[in-house]
Amino acid sequence: MSTIRRQLAALYKDVAARGLNEGSSGNVSARAGRGMLITPTGCTAATVTPKSLVTMGLDGTFKGRTRPSSEWEMHAAIYRAAPEAMVIVHTHSDHATALACLNQPLPAFHYAVLAFGGAEVRVAPYVTFGTAALAEAATEAIAGRTACLLANHGMICHGRNVAGALAAALLLETLARQYLIARAAGTPRLLSEDEMAQARLRFRSYGQQPERDRKNDEQD
Ligand SMILES: [Zn+2]
Repeated sequence: MSTIRRQLAALYKDVAARGLNEGSSGNVSARAGRGMLITPTGCTAATVTPKSLVTMGLDGTFKGRTRPSSEWEMHAAIYRAAPEAMVIVHTHSDHATALACLNQPLPAFHYAVLAFGGAEVRVAPYVTFGTAALAEAATEAIAGRTACLLANHGMICHGRNVAGALAAALLLETLARQYLIARAAGTPRLLSEDEMAQARLRFRSYGQQPERDRKNDEQD
């Protein structure tokens, strides 16, 4: 069994274990060659196995009797539009979904929102689940970002690998929870464009160790 099949099945279990999904509501995928590998329709953390994952083209073609997730089109559209997206997580996690049900974006209430590539996490307008229209709406809302909310539905995010996609899903849920707590307690002060620009400069170097001096490398 390939490594990515094992990693993706483990990711789906992790997403549920971390409380981001209940039952069969979410789905995960990974770019695989020109297509993708995605969880089958109706699977749960208890039933998913590496073998059960469906290999399919981004045009919807697949072999075998196991049908892919009903949201395959949303995953495929994001892989087509965002070359950097390697793993996608879609969940109905509580707080991200609650905010999406207000049909409101996650605004610049905290500088960490920048982790998703912009000053806010947009919300895609509501359309029926499992449709090409949802794929289009999500692709538009996530453009230039690594996550978006889906109105009256949930959220979707991507990462460069399994760990990155899981971290993005967890961070979005945490920030949505913090934002809703702040709103319940009062009116959060949103950061200004200038404050977000300053934070963005810091963010670029955050967590990175200084590169080794090239001269020293050459002498080693
Ligand atoms: Zn969904």
